Amino acid sequence: MEHLDADVVVIGSGMGGATTALALARRGVDVLVVERGERLPREAENWSPRAVFLDRRYKPAETWEDRHGKAFHPGVHYVVGGNTKVYGASLPRFRESDFEERRHLEGVSRAWPFRYGDLEPYYGQAEQVYAVHGSTGEDPTEPWRSTPFPYAALPHEPYVRHLADRLRAAGVHPSSTAMGVDLRDGGACIRCGTCDGFPCRVGAKSDAETCAIDPALATGNARLATGLTVRRLVTDGTGRRVVAAVATGPDGAVRVTGGRFVVAAGAANSAALLLASADDRHRDGLGNASGVLGRNFMMHNNAHIACVDLDRPNDVVFQKTLAVTDWYEDGGDGHPLGSLQTLGKVQGVMMKSWATRVPLPILDQVAKRSVEWLVMAEDLPDPDNRVTLTARGAIRTTRRPRGGRQHAILLRAAKRLMRRAGYDVVATQPFDISMNSHMCGTVVAGADPRTSILDGLCKAHELANLWVVDASFFPSSAAMNPALTIAAQALRVVAESDLAG
Ligand SMILES: Cc1cc2nc3c(=O)[nH]c(=O)nc-3n(C[C@H](O)[C@H](O)[C@H](O)COP(=O)(O)OP(=O)(O)OC[C@H]3O[C@@H](n4cnc5c(N)ncnc54)[C@H](O)[C@@H]3O)c2cc1C
Repeated sequence: MEHLDADVVVIGSGMGGATTALALARRGVDVLVVERGERLPREAENWSPRAVFLDRRYKPAETWEDRHGKAFHPGVHYVVGGNTKVYGASLPRFRESDFEERRHLEGVSRAWPFRYGDLEPYYGQAEQVYAVHGSTGEDPTEPWRSTPFPYAALPHEPYVRHLADRLRAAGVHPSSTAMGVDLRDGGACIRCGTCDGFPCRVGAKSDAETCAIDPALATGNARLATGLTVRRLVTDGTGRRVVAAVATGPDGAVRVTGGRFVVAAGAANSAALLLASADDRHRDGLGNASGVLGRNFMMHNNAHIACVDLDRPNDVVFQKTLAVTDWYEDGGDGHPLGSLQTLGKVQGVMMKSWATRVPLPILDQVAKRSVEWLVMAEDLPDPDNRVTLTARGAIRTTRRPRGGRQHAILLRAAKRLMRRAGYDVVATQPFDISMNSHMCGTVVAGADPRTSILDGLCKAHELANLWVVDASFFPSSAAMNPALTIAAQALRVVAESDLAG
């Protein structure tokens, strides 16, 4: 059996794994990143809506099962950089209240084992790593910051500027979206219309491969092994230490040994890996004496809305620059509702993946006059929403959305707002279980080992050398895009825990 070894073994090269590897490598630590996928090729299809959305070119053939045992294609990307290779690069910080226990309409959002202030310096560092463009003073809910954004906010194109004026006139406070694209002076971004949901063909998106894996490799301290899927972790006789990861690749099994291990395979796969690593001392899964491993699976209550103004064609190219957070803390009855954010400009063929019965020429006409928004509400943690393994070892996600009423109120408020702003028609595309792009929870961090798997620095309560640093650690989902928070916590874990040795 082939054998690899490193001081620190990081499993997964997405937002969590790549940022952890970069921080370790910069400290001179010998780190090996083990990734099941390969590098996503730069090719013409990167920017083909048909190839990306209809032919699913960059998604794995793998299926997961829902709670009824029905197979579905999950929204995951097994490539170097993970889901960030296609993400929308909207990189906001969570709000201070997201770290506190908060009462919502349908339950309670859990407190995190650390506060916003503990993460704040690392948010600043993560914004540097991922070259975030943003502005202050526009967003009524923005949290305090000790460092400025590295780069000024992306300017709105005329259509979006006009939209912001219309929204202001309709009574809300639109603000610039914090974005990770390389639009610095001389930067590589060409501001195309195929960013959100697409891989970047010119390497200008702040994804985890570009901003973390490649810089980590450049230090000379990090190595990347691709095409290796880690199947299980093996512990020593005491059950207190992980001694090896067993992976499979094109040439068979590979044993990866190391001093310390970081699982960063994404919220579903990290839980699945720990469940699959059950042994005599960890009968219900590695580090799972509490029984909460795989539970509290969250993925936001999301919907897309397309708002059509019959009188005004939308000629925008880069649409994802505007957000509305007025109802984030309080939707009017004392409960938080969530946030709105423009999406990358949708093309007719992209609508075809859900509006299957509408002829493409009609969808093209709609797309020429529509502006699209993501309407995002918190998905409350629920132990019954969980990741488990089927008898054949596949991932099963069981989920009944918690917070659906809150999302429905937000959706109604968003539609009313768009009509007030002059839009004639507002169409809704609700998300289904396969649209799990913002998944989190499953290996939650907490102060109490009876109700969490990890401590506040993402180290397993029950193991001396195991960390889980990806979206799985989130105790609650907030109603903001997750990636910057994953990256900030990765930097904090390396700086403040004993992971770096
Ligand atoms: C279309 C889309 C748009 C998005 N837009 C945004 C956005 O605008 N802003 C934002 O904040 N977030 C966005 N997201 C979400 C964001 O990409 C994720 O929150 C983030 O990537 C999660 O990081 P992670 O480290 O948990 O997992 P990932 O980034 O998914 O990384 C997991 C990695 O582990 C690898 N892996 C899995 N299993 C194994 C195994 N057994 N062995 C070895 N390797 C393994 C995977 O191949 C992958 O590379 C978007 C996601 C999608 C899909």
